[in-house]
Order: sequence, then structure tokens, then C-alpha cells
Amino acid sequence: MTSTTLIGLGPMGQAMVRVLLDHGTEVTVWNRTKSRADDVVARGAVLAATPAEAVKAAELVILSLTDYQAMYDVLADAGEALAGRVVVNLSSDTPQRTREAAAWLAERGATLVAGGIMVPAPLVGAEASYVFYSGPRDVFEAHEPVLRHIGRPEYLGEDHGLAQLFYQAALTIFLTSLSSYLQAFALLEAEGAEPERLVPFAKEAAGLGATYLDETVAHLRARTYPGDLSTATMMGATADHIVQASRDAGVDLALPEAVKSHYDRAIAAGHGRDNWTSLWEVVAKRR
Ligand code: NDP
Repeated sequence: MTSTTLIGLGPMGQAMVRVLLDHGTEVTVWNRTKSRADDVVARGAVLAATPAEAVKAAELVILSLTDYQAMYDVLADAGEALAGRVVVNLSSDTPQRTREAAAWLAERGATLVAGGIMVPAPLVGAEASYVFYSGPRDVFEAHEPVLRHIGRPEYLGEDHGLAQLFYQAALTIFLTSLSSYLQAFALLEAEGAEPERLVPFAKEAAGLGATYLDETVAHLRARTYPGDLSTATMMGATADHIVQASRDAGVDLALPEAVKSHYDRAIAAGHGRDNWTSLWEVVAKRR
């Protein structure tokens, strides 16, 4: 029987333990707040008394914590137990902090495989679940059969930062979309229209946005932005209408003004007759 340690029993960690147990994996767990282990222990997980004891229990140690600082807080006292362990950290953080963590673990004889899971807790282990991974390929591949139970593995490369890079990029799309939903509903509600009425059209708008992805990448790679069907000036006028309508409605302006600012600056830089994709020249500004 394969055995795994899982540290961090928030909604995600608990969902992972359940999935691993369902697939016949022996799971040792530890969590700062002990009561959060109750459900998974009732299902067959073994509760370790300390992080060091948890780390000793299996070669594969999966972390599901708020961020990488929590990893240091938890593993600081794990001492020699870390030697020879593979730490698969599925906590969110930046690529740079991930690389620093790889070095910190290496100093203690452990290997980091960094990960970022792209679904919420109810979908862990389901068909829609996928996880970005990066780090040493051979180490990842050795543990891939167990990790596969959590979600479809998407291995990105040896650089430890890659998983968080793709994770934060995908979440940029996700989080700004979620804020845009609320912004749109707030605009409606402020004017007395029911948010529910927008839902079918919001779904269409989200789908329409996705149809531009391939063309967008082609434009930014070529750094040419053909404006024959729509221009930054036309779209910028719309961005301004959104700001004005939001101001009239008395709702928050931060998001509409951020979008308008992209258009204003692209137009000021001479891209008014180019496609909206010319905003790339503003958004992707180099240091
Ligand atoms: P929670 O914030 O609910 O749980 C985080 C875990 O981290 C808990 O076990 C918590 O312990 C522990 N923790 C945090 N700080 C410390 C610390 N300083 N010392 C010890 N333990 C600490 O998170 P989730 O389960 O929701 O998420 C886990 C990770 O998965 C996050 O990085 C999140 O971004 C990511 N994620 C979450 C999704 C979601 O829908 N929830 C979806 C996809 C990814 P304690 O119980 O004691 O507080």
C-alpha cells in the first residue's frame, strides 16, 4: 500500500485526504488546529502528534497551507525528519518564494515539487481537477501515480517557479473575472435591475472573451495589432462609458478606472487606430 503524509487540513487538504483514502492510499495527517483532522481521521487517516512525526511517516509529504510562510512555520522544527523527503507544496505563493523554498528544503536534504491546484475543494479528484507542477522531473514522475488522484497533473518544467507562475497567471484571469461579475451586478442593482437577469448574458460575455485568446497571443507575439475590425479608440470610449455609468450609479470605480487607464495610456502612446490588443504595450511594460 502506498503511503503519503498530508499537512494542512483546510477545505483543500481535507478534500485531498478523502480522495487519497478513497484510492487506497495510507495517509498520515497533521494540522495546527487539531479538530480539523476529525473528519479525515474518522475516515481512516492517521493523526501525527507533531509535524516531525508526520514527515517521518512517508517519503511523500504534501502540503496544503495558506502560503509558503506557513510551510516554514510548520516545518521549522521537523529537523532531520526532512532528509530524503519529497515535499509537494500545493500552497499558493509567488514563483520567487517557491524557488527560495526549494533551496531551504534542499539545505535540509529534502526535494521540493511545487504545485498549484486549479479547482475548489468539491472538485478535488474529479475529472475537472488539474494541478500545475514544477521541479525535478524524475522526482515528480516517481510520485505522479499518487498525485494523479488529486487531479490531472500538468508538469511544466524543472524550474520550481513555473507552477506558481502559471497558477498566478491563471488566477489573474479567474480573480479579475470574479470581480467583474460583482461589478456588473452592482451596476444593475444600483439602477434597480435584478442581477439574475444578467446571468445568461454574463455567461455569453465570458465565453466571448475566451474566443479572443488565440488571436490575442498571435498579436502580442508579432507586436502588431491590426485595427480593421475594432480599435483602441472605439473600445476606449466604451471603457469611459463604463466608468461614467458606474459613477452615475454610485458603485465602486476602481476596476472600471483600471480598465479605462489601459486604454487611455495605449491611445496616448499612439495606438488609437490599432486593435485593443495594443494595450499589451501598456500592460506588459518591462522593468
Ligand atoms: P485554509 O486557509 O482554509 O487552510 C490553510 C491551512 O493552512 C490550514 O490547515 C491552516 O491551519 C494552515 N496554516 C495557515 N497558516 C499557518 C501557519 N502559520 N502555521 C500552521 N498552519 C498554518 O486554505 P484552503 O484549504 O482553502 O487552501 C489551501 C491552499 O490551497 C491555499 O494556498 C489556497 O490558495 C489553495 N487553493 C484553495 C482553493 C479553495 O477553493 N479553497 C482552490 C484552489 C487552491 P489551521 O487549520 O490551524 O488554521
